[in-house]
Amino acid sequence: MDNQAIFDKANEVFEKVVGFRRHIHKNPELSFQEYNTSSFIKSILDEYKIEYRAIANTGVVATIGADRSKCIALRADIDALPILEETELDFASANEGVMHACGHDMHTSMLLGTAIILKSYEAELNGTVKLLFQPGEEVLPGGATMMIVEGVLENPKVDAIFGQHIFPDAKTGTISFCEGRAFASTNEIYITIHGKGSHAAQPHSGNDPILTAAHLIQHFQTLINKKRNPLEPGVLSITSINGGNTTNIFPEKVELKGTLRTYNEDWRQEMVKLIGETTNVIASLHNCTAEVNIVTGYSPIVNSPIETQKAKQIAINLLGDDYVYDYEPRLWAEDFAYYLQQVPGTFWLLGVQPHDKDFLPPLHNSKLIPEEKAMITGISMFVKTVFEYFKS
Ligand SMILES: [Zn+2]
Ligand SMILES: [Zn+2]
Repeated sequence: MDNQAIFDKANEVFEKVVGFRRHIHKNPELSFQEYNTSSFIKSILDEYKIEYRAIANTGVVATIGADRSKCIALRADIDALPILEETELDFASANEGVMHACGHDMHTSMLLGTAIILKSYEAELNGTVKLLFQPGEEVLPGGATMMIVEGVLENPKVDAIFGQHIFPDAKTGTISFCEGRAFASTNEIYITIHGKGSHAAQPHSGNDPILTAAHLIQHFQTLINKKRNPLEPGVLSITSINGGNTTNIFPEKVELKGTLRTYNEDWRQEMVKLIGETTNVIASLHNCTAEVNIVTGYSPIVNSPIETQKAKQIAINLLGDDYVYDYEPRLWAEDFAYYLQQVPGTFWLLGVQPHDKDFLPPLHNSKLIPEEKAMITGISMFVKTVFEYFKS
């Protein structure tokens, strides 16, 4: 298929895809509860006679193509976030307190649009395409590992996988790539400091968990500065602190939450150990005790160099030099990481910022309105990648 034919096809399905997107946007469902979203995806696949099976409870994997000599997987995530939407769109969330603020509505719709186009070229495909509609990207343990455990990368064996995420910082019509380390690993940190409550005027009769928490937070900044190789990116951020409710009483306890992010697995393990050990030391200095719970989050995304270069060349050929960029590695996290531990592939970012704007609210923001036209680029790139990959 030449570029013009791909764009023509993408434009042809665009109106339909916008319809899908608005329907999904209006009816968002939280991670692992995507029952209606899953039914909706299946209904579209049924309509176009595309084969599929249910996977990971609310996930769906569709298959197109009879030639089993090569297999390529394309992935979209389907879950929404616990955010109260403030866009005032006429297709804004009808499920109050839940919003597609991470663009997964667009990811899902683009993959459906891609499926419709590829189905119409099924006889010409020199390989099999698997379309992964993945549940639960936003919460641990993530739907990717569940899909992998349930065999999504087998039978036929997937040779390469590609995924895309909307990117509010880049203009509509652009795609950005990152070779190697792209997104970080995460650990969620939960700490409770138990002290002894007392009157604020009699601090000597209690053990103050608030002062302990203050020392602890500063100590974490020391850890990140002194126990990290300055050439290795990493953050240890405390993002929530809760304790006490009035002016004249020291509370019994303080709760802290935060995140640890890095690309380096060894340093990650070392930090998990250090956070636990030193929290207990600092708590005991203040005659308090600490409960530390560090939950292991996603692994880092490492994009395969060969697949990234290939995809980037495909994008340049399709969109032209001016629309293809490199993105800086960032400390975001995404469970696409787990597919990349099994098969080579790459995760690219799709610009969704209108050309007449110089700012869009970031991902996970209640006012985020990505430009729908970007879906033409996303669909075209998926289709082109499939054809080029099967050619080589
Ligand atoms: Zn997200
Ligand atoms: Zn996302």
